[in-house]
Amino acid sequence: MTTNFQEKLEKYAELAIKVGINIQPGQILVIRAPLFAASLARLATKKAYEAGAKIVHVDWSDEEITKIKFDLAPDDAFHEFPTWVTKGYEELAERGAAFLSITGSDPDLLKQAKPEHVANANKASGRAMEGFRSYITSDKVSWSIIAAPSEGWAKKVFPNEDTDTAVAKLWEAIFSATRINEVDPVTAWKAHLATLDEKMNILNEKHFKELHYQSEGTDLLIELPETHIWVSGGSTSKEGVQFVANMPTEEVFTSAKKTGVNGVVSSTKPLNYGGTLINNFSLRFKDGKVVDFKAEEGYETLKRLLDTDEGSRYIGEVALVPHQSPISDTNIIFYNTLFDENASNHLAIGSAYAFCIEGGKEMNKEELEKNGLNTSMTHVDFMIGSSDMNIDGVYEDGKREPIFRNGNWAI
Ligand code: ZN
Ligand code: ZN
Repeated sequence: MTTNFQEKLEKYAELAIKVGINIQPGQILVIRAPLFAASLARLATKKAYEAGAKIVHVDWSDEEITKIKFDLAPDDAFHEFPTWVTKGYEELAERGAAFLSITGSDPDLLKQAKPEHVANANKASGRAMEGFRSYITSDKVSWSIIAAPSEGWAKKVFPNEDTDTAVAKLWEAIFSATRINEVDPVTAWKAHLATLDEKMNILNEKHFKELHYQSEGTDLLIELPETHIWVSGGSTSKEGVQFVANMPTEEVFTSAKKTGVNGVVSSTKPLNYGGTLINNFSLRFKDGKVVDFKAEEGYETLKRLLDTDEGSRYIGEVALVPHQSPISDTNIIFYNTLFDENASNHLAIGSAYAFCIEGGKEMNKEELEKNGLNTSMTHVDFMIGSSDMNIDGVYEDGKREPIFRNGNWAI
């Protein structure tokens, strides 16, 4: 790879450490890295020590080893998750460590594995890591997700290129989407986050009762919970450290009122759900519930997703993302939600984030539901934005104001 590439990779590592994690002097950092991302993980380690980190632990994984396990391990292996891993993560979180994850595995890695092995493994790790996950979902510690291309992912995005070219092109797309091509990405990100915060503050001030979405194939009214809070890309940990959980991030989001969604919405990008594509689909809502749906591709998968549990027929998240952004401008379908959902207005089927209503972080499931939030085992984002999308904010008294015009912010 060229020097130019090395420079960009170094800038990306620096951005992850300084803006994503915002490492503090004396802090411990955990990097969860697949082997194909070794060069990025090493650079991030270097940047972290240079910025004052005390210890950097790297938790390696390997796609090939994972695949071998799913090919050869006995059935009961998939019901177990090592407690030493669980305890280690909880202990480090308790000590105020920061957590950087690098994603980018082949979306089809486990396509041939037994579905019950995959389901059992997910359940076992989900249950075992519940304690650790609560540090993440309530922003007690600083955490961030970035990406590096595996060969499998790169070939999925650029199927007509040879492997090396596909990987190089996907790196380039990741660099554009994360503003690495700017002269000073750290400063560019600070300005970007300030812009998102500005939109968030306006929306919180206006406190709309409803949003009205209109575009080709979409005419949807979404009521917002009485005490809803709009949230943007920048987060703050318990210690008061600002960090960015998703890089890239372009969204300002809140929760829908569970029973307040009515009308039709059409998808505008394919949705990769568990290795299967759902494409050109639409959902019809009545009083919050999906009462009818269509899909040109992946109808059965969509049906299974909607039938996961009671909450999977309701909307949890409402996210506003301009049609024009560095990610959209790449004109690439990434088949990776970290990227695709940040290139388009989107909604999520399933659970809402507790921090999207006042006092939500302290509420249990019943209290969240009572305050209008949906709860579910699932949370799946799907893309609905387009260049012809208009969104109005509707006040309590019926007065309207444009929020989006032709796919971009109008406030
Ligand atoms: Zn989102
Ligand atoms: Zn989401």
